[in-house]
Amino acid sequence: MASARPLRRPRPSSNLRPRPEARRFADAATLYGIPNWGKGFFHVSEDGDLVVRPTREPGRGVALKQIVDEVAMRGISTPMVIRFPQILMAAVANLNDAFARAIDEYGYGNVFRGVFPIKVNQKRVVVDHVVEAGRRYGYGLEAGSKPELLAAIAADLGPDCLITCNGYKDDTFIRMALNAVRMKKKVVLILEKVSELERILTVARERGVRPLIGMRAKLYARGSGKWAKSGGEAAKFGLTTPEMLEAVKILKSRKMLDSLVMLHFHIGSQITDIRKIKEAIREAGRVYAKLRALGVPIQYLNLGGGLGVDYDGSKTAFDSSMNYSVQEYANDVVYTVKQICDEEKVPPPVLVTESGRAVTAYHSVFVTNVLDVADRIEQGRRARVVPSDATVLQELASVYDSVNAKTLRESYHDAQQYKEELFTLFNLGHLSLEDRSKGEVLFWQICEKIHRDLKNLKEVPEEFEDMETMLADTYVLNFSVFQSLPDIWAIDQLFPILPIHRLNERPTEFGTLADITCDSDGKIEKFIDLRDIKETLPLHPLRNGEPYYVGVCLMGAYQDVLGDLHNLFGEANEVLVTVDEEGHSHVVDVLPGESCQRVLEYMNYDRTEILDSIGRQLRRVAGRPLKKEEARAIFKDFEEVFPRYTYLER
Ligand SMILES: *Cc1c(COP(=O)(O)O)cnc(C)c1O
Repeated sequence: MASARPLRRPRPSSNLRPRPEARRFADAATLYGIPNWGKGFFHVSEDGDLVVRPTREPGRGVALKQIVDEVAMRGISTPMVIRFPQILMAAVANLNDAFARAIDEYGYGNVFRGVFPIKVNQKRVVVDHVVEAGRRYGYGLEAGSKPELLAAIAADLGPDCLITCNGYKDDTFIRMALNAVRMKKKVVLILEKVSELERILTVARERGVRPLIGMRAKLYARGSGKWAKSGGEAAKFGLTTPEMLEAVKILKSRKMLDSLVMLHFHIGSQITDIRKIKEAIREAGRVYAKLRALGVPIQYLNLGGGLGVDYDGSKTAFDSSMNYSVQEYANDVVYTVKQICDEEKVPPPVLVTESGRAVTAYHSVFVTNVLDVADRIEQGRRARVVPSDATVLQELASVYDSVNAKTLRESYHDAQQYKEELFTLFNLGHLSLEDRSKGEVLFWQICEKIHRDLKNLKEVPEEFEDMETMLADTYVLNFSVFQSLPDIWAIDQLFPILPIHRLNERPTEFGTLADITCDSDGKIEKFIDLRDIKETLPLHPLRNGEPYYVGVCLMGAYQDVLGDLHNLFGEANEVLVTVDEEGHSHVVDVLPGESCQRVLEYMNYDRTEILDSIGRQLRRVAGRPLKKEEARAIFKDFEEVFPRYTYLER
């Protein structure tokens, strides 16, 4: 298990005098940076609830806590993903409108035909809503595998919509794409390697279809941020300049040059720096123009994904942020391509992007409950040193007494030194377990006293910087990082995380978060900050008998679908919520998360076989001394586990 710290029991609340935290706290939005990252979708209500406004209109909001309470009555408990299809649709409109505005403003002589890359969130409800919102814009889909292509072809897309196909393809994949072309769908097979071309041409000849082909260019330009290596010369995918010319030559010799309709590039996800985007467009724009000049009738310039999300709200080129807006992105794309086309005197191409992250990130929030708070020392525990105690304990006690604002550094150094001595003496057999315990408690008491004084300093000296982390409580959350927020573990991604209620109370504690997997990596110890990364999160103390919920926002891209079954924790419950024009919220759908039976089946276990085995073992012990009825009751208990949620239930 991740932590062996003692669990702190919630402090009993007193009804006699007002709790100090009951005084109104008005700074929660600022504290958690909501105006910076929330884009108008998130808001704190008078009652201290985190409210989602899926259309960004002030009168149309719903408190996340209200949804949690409402679905609890239907037997749906946390952890849960709360999905707002209206936010998804707003994001599709936002991207398409941004391009329409830029095209209008710069007088660009062609249109925008974006596609949504299914791999960013393959959930049917997500794809269906994206398709619906995109219909009036001619917004299509991108597929990278056979199942994704099946879903894309079945989707109810308009006749103008593109389906782009990236990644490696076999004959079955190619046949599917070509059959869809015969169904009058605009399915473009994008070459990752020249060798794919022969394959496509062979299948196309067999079927008598004119394929629509694209080329992924290996650009010299690279992205920025975590995915910088997806672009540049060492990228996994794409054709080099000689390879592009080779593909052109092959197609020309077959008199099929008009099949080459798209030039594509993708320099990675979450591009934090707009300059990198401009560099890539400048290069790809030139490649397009030069190919046109060679007589290749390319119609589409596809700029791939990479449009970022400002997770920390800092508007910088930091990994979890971006230094540009969606409109600035669209403006730069349109302006740069137009300029190049004007210069090179070639017709401007249809502009295509494959933005996934920016379209899906905002639309869902992950909510779960705190199970317990693990503290280093139990709150209020005091060590009393008596004259007969060992010298090292006397020394620690006197360090505690002498802590004051002027001697913080000395006190801390002394405390550390005596702690070392404490363990050395214990290992040599000179101290008892009680002595050791007293020494540990004294050390933490000193740290807490120093920490209280540090809060009054303007600048915290460097040697104390990790003190906050050292003293932080661990809030244990009912979830698995690996299933629900895998990028936190895999790539240290940051998300805005905050309590979804009690936001009108000052959060007096600070903590890190741990999940319920028995993996020591199952934790969250990095949080968004405007200037840096924070190592702890401000949180409220647990209140007796009251649930405490924490939400992870902006998790709608990739997190929903990259998770795994570590420890056999399955998918969380899902709730679909809309808010109507009158401001009433509606839970429009509830999808129960995976049961114990379902996750076992993924691993090839069978309910009947497991129960047979348990039944056999029970029969062996029944009657000696276990009674027959007791065995039956035990069997029934086991049977009842299969349909249950994999997470902890109340
Ligand atoms: C993953 C991927 C995308 C989506 O990228 P985002 O950064 O999420 O917009 C687009 N195109 C290709 C080829 C991809 O592999």
